[in-house]
Amino acid sequence: MPTITINGKECEFDKGQMVLQVALANGIEIPHYCYHPCLSIVASCRVCLVEVWAPNPRNDNAIEPIPKLLPACQTPAGDQQIVYSDSPKAILNQKAVMEYLLINHPIDCPVCDQAGECYLQDYSYQYGRGQVRFEEEKIKQPKKDIGPHVLLYSDRCIMCTRCVRFCREITGTGELMVDGRGSMEQIDIFPGQALDNELSANVVDLCPVGALLDKDFLFQQRVWFLKKTPSIDGLTCSGDNIYIEHNKGQIYRIKPRTNLDVNRHWITDELRYGWKFIHDENRLTVPAVSGEDAFEPNEASLAYEAAYTAANDKLAEAKKIALLISPMLSCEDAYLLATYASQFDGEVIFGIGPVPTSGEDKEFLDGFKLYAEKAPNARGVRRVLSKFGDVLDFNAFVKKLADADSLIATGNYPADWVEDELTVAAGDKFVMVIDTLPNGLTKRADVLIPAATWAEKAGTFENASNRLQTFDRAIDPIDYCKGESQIALDLIALRGGLTPDRYDAAAVRQKMAETHGLSEFVSEVQTPCEEEEAVKSDMEMVVL
Ligand code: SF4
Repeated sequence: MPTITINGKECEFDKGQMVLQVALANGIEIPHYCYHPCLSIVASCRVCLVEVWAPNPRNDNAIEPIPKLLPACQTPAGDQQIVYSDSPKAILNQKAVMEYLLINHPIDCPVCDQAGECYLQDYSYQYGRGQVRFEEEKIKQPKKDIGPHVLLYSDRCIMCTRCVRFCREITGTGELMVDGRGSMEQIDIFPGQALDNELSANVVDLCPVGALLDKDFLFQQRVWFLKKTPSIDGLTCSGDNIYIEHNKGQIYRIKPRTNLDVNRHWITDELRYGWKFIHDENRLTVPAVSGEDAFEPNEASLAYEAAYTAANDKLAEAKKIALLISPMLSCEDAYLLATYASQFDGEVIFGIGPVPTSGEDKEFLDGFKLYAEKAPNARGVRRVLSKFGDVLDFNAFVKKLADADSLIATGNYPADWVEDELTVAAGDKFVMVIDTLPNGLTKRADVLIPAATWAEKAGTFENASNRLQTFDRAIDPIDYCKGESQIALDLIALRGGLTPDRYDAAAVRQKMAETHGLSEFVSEVQTPCEEEEAVKSDMEMVVL
């Protein structure tokens, strides 16, 4: 295999790789702005220029310096090349580029949302000069509202053109362009054409500085207060990898987590902004039992006891139980609820809740897909329930309800999901509902238990390509809600007179493999990859 030496480290590489790609793959940092692994290479920012020594075929392949600095992002790696991004010549260029980029850049880090995750801040510290020599007045550029989700602060832009290339090469919508030339150059939209496509807010993630900002997140939180929890799309069947970013139990934003096999570097705006229902003020938060006075929040443990006892007593008398598992639930939820229902009835009627769809599947230019199916786990729920018995689709389940005298129904949808036919079919049966938001069925429920959304619990989803992926709990359940898995464990324990286990997703998956032949939940399930290495500051604390 050919080798190249970068800053003294010998690295193997594949033919066609660029010097910067080899460096990044080997943990060597070379500063760069315009390069992005999923966009075309333009070599415009010039901060990645490196000194290259290469074999000279006209001098018996002696290793000789190439006179000019070369852009690491656009220079193919060559066998026996020696590259320096830390030589005096390369460092001088880095300082010059940083000084040039900062000439007109406003010093508004204290009020800029990007502060704390800004490559201009980080590189200024690591590669900049440390002093400002520019004494003239900075050019001021306008702030613009360029689309439903994105603001453009033009005077912070460093003209890397990542955003322009994204709209041309990934979405194919081409809303953004470079207007003007030289010092008057600026990013803009075409007249009358807003930045409005299904992936529009990805330009905010791509922008290495604070020029493109997310309207929804604007001034909401300083990024260094946010904790990032790896998760999976809990709204559609994409299985897109995400980070849920939160602080003190409040979610502030969802960002893409790189997985080149699933969502590459992107997520849809639908997923990015679709989490608001988690903090809906109408969330169900305390259990309720029909015939009993409503419980106050400070009576939550009493309410749970009453709800669990009523459910176990009523289901013990049931002749036929129907269990409706929502496609919004995790595989572990489905397994534990099916285990619980099967303890009362050896032939439970199993059904999958309605699977919402909207529009049609759409594939973008790089293969990224937006799915019409707006539920994360219809396949996983079916996979698990099929180990317990036949699984009916929603309409067939509603028809079959006539044969049952008890119904356990789960929801957890971001919006009202209950169709009249289900409430009518519930008739005068015993109905236990585990759900997050009020609807026709929660009003009709004999026992109502408030559930936790996917951000408030851990589990596994199976996406449209049958990929099983786990997700972690980002925030604690809101108020007194509980995950469906924990509810099932509590009910099973109470029935057996035992102390309930604390829900542990990995332990449940192990049990699924051992007891129901669901070995794929141990052998094939994919856990979140390591967090991407962020640019680390080497700033030292000053002791005063
Ligand atoms: S707005 Fe951001 S992403 Fe677009 S060119 Fe400017 S710095 Fe680059």
